[in-house]
Amino acid sequence: MPFPQTLEAKPKIIFFTDFDGTITLKDSNDWMTDNLGFGQEKRRQGNLDTLHDKVTFRESFQDMMDSVKQPFPECIRLLCENIKLDPYFNDFYQWSRQVGVPVIVLSSGMTPIIRGLLVHLIGPEANDIEIVSNEVVDRPPKKKEEEGGWQIQFHDDSGFGHDKSLTIRPYAKHFEAHPDEPKPVMLYAGDGKPNCPGRSLNTGACLVLAVSSQTLPGVSDLSAARETDLLFAKEGYDLVVYCQKQGIPYTTFKDWQSIMATTKAIFEGKTTVKEVAAESAEKAKQGKD
Ligand SMILES: [Mg+2]
Repeated sequence: MPFPQTLEAKPKIIFFTDFDGTITLKDSNDWMTDNLGFGQEKRRQGNLDTLHDKVTFRESFQDMMDSVKQPFPECIRLLCENIKLDPYFNDFYQWSRQVGVPVIVLSSGMTPIIRGLLVHLIGPEANDIEIVSNEVVDRPPKKKEEEGGWQIQFHDDSGFGHDKSLTIRPYAKHFEAHPDEPKPVMLYAGDGKPNCPGRSLNTGACLVLAVSSQTLPGVSDLSAARETDLLFAKEGYDLVVYCQKQGIPYTTFKDWQSIMATTKAIFEGKTTVKEVAAESAEKAKQGKD
């Protein structure tokens, strides 16, 4: 359900999440490029070129996808055979449905692929998950179902192809304008690594700007009321380091079992996002000493 309908049921928590490498174990776009497109070596070169600002993430990703010539339905079929979800994501999703926590996928990938994988691996109820991502369209004069017949259509004009903060921002603005309404806790889970090491920090930053603007100078137009929000950052990835450096409220996760435990505890009032973030900060400090 898109904004603002998401708010009609007055959810206690809204859960935004990345897809590739966060809900899935492997990145689906990397898999397609390596196995159906121009291969791993060229993909890595594209990653490096993005890292060194020779091309944007958007350009590099477009090149990757343009190198995949299989008809689009065939790509989805092969991905369903080769990409697995985190083994605990379905448990989390079933719990979120029961208690009325909307799950919104924000991805730099492609909506029909994400929908195809989620429905294949979870079942038809995965059709209820809102997905905000890039689209896939025909490549005229061909149709998507033909060899070389599809292309990516980016979500917006940003160098990321999809600026994830654009989806979160209206929620923040809504609660700025309606301070009397109970504000849901807004959580985000990500690995900070959509296809591209290094550049991932920027992509991570893009969503971090949306969830905790008050910690970053110069972004004061975003709501200070967002200070209770929390970012789940995948253990051992760049996003953790970024959060530590910027003082952004975060906690780490290994898989969706740990995300569910923390989210449930917040939902049930056994802890708060502030307590969770303080624990993570304390742990990180002890690790360094
Ligand atoms: Mg990712």
